[in-house]
Amino acid sequence: GNMITSGMRFESTASDFQTPEANVEKHEYQAEVSRLMDLIVNSLYSNKEVFLRELISNASDALDKLRFLSVTEPQLLEGGSELDIRIQTDQENGIITLTDSGIGMTHQELVDSLGTIAHSGTAKFLKALKDSKDAGSDSNLIGQFGVGFYSAFLVADKVVVSTKSPKSDKQYVWEGEANSSSYIIREETDSEKFIPRGTSIQLHLKHDEKGFAHPERIERLVKNYSQFVSFPIYTWQEKG
Ligand code: ADP
Ligand code: MG
Repeated sequence: GNMITSGMRFESTASDFQTPEANVEKHEYQAEVSRLMDLIVNSLYSNKEVFLRELISNASDALDKLRFLSVTEPQLLEGGSELDIRIQTDQENGIITLTDSGIGMTHQELVDSLGTIAHSGTAKFLKALKDSKDAGSDSNLIGQFGVGFYSAFLVADKVVVSTKSPKSDKQYVWEGEANSSSYIIREETDSEKFIPRGTSIQLHLKHDEKGFAHPERIERLVKNYSQFVSFPIYTWQEKG
């Protein structure tokens, strides 16, 4: 097949530099994303469980995209033909990991998708926020529009995304923290984290939200959402 080795270098964002650790690139969020993150991190929005629906829906979109493209490009399935979503809970460390075997992201797609406002719903959200006068309406707006990937920061203070596109020979890691205006991207070098294709999203839960790593809680939520998803969703727990 066509091997497009995309994104070894990137030219798009302003203040990227090499940190002492090899291969670590620091990127600044687009200003709108910083605003959105601030709002999400500091919001009093109580329906925080929506993060799981958003992440499952992204996983499902990535699987749909792969399934669609593989009709004409069957080599995309070389990393394995199983299309599914796996959710692992690690209660002891307060970590939830959501892994899909979907289309994954190249380096450039990571920068474009998880650092800018890619998503029209999010853009509408910001517009509505600008137009709204009353304090405290933030919460209503989060519920009304949904905030996509960034909703992970409703419950997590650190999010680590490791992703492998069939169009790239490398697997990349995106790492972002609540209350930071920048994120990093590096090449995945930990062979234990290697996936043949797809995306793995690790949520390091905030101290007050560690309850989401309870397997029963996740299973209950997954059961509600899974009826809208056409791929199997498996849950399991890290043994202590
Ligand atoms: P939306 O899903 O409406 O596009 P999101 O904020 O939820 O907005 O996600 C932004 C983008 O990030 C997606 O459009 C997609 O390109 C990328 N993305 C997010 N999660 C995944 C994933 N699990 N696999 C592949 N791409 C993803
Ligand atoms: Mg989405």
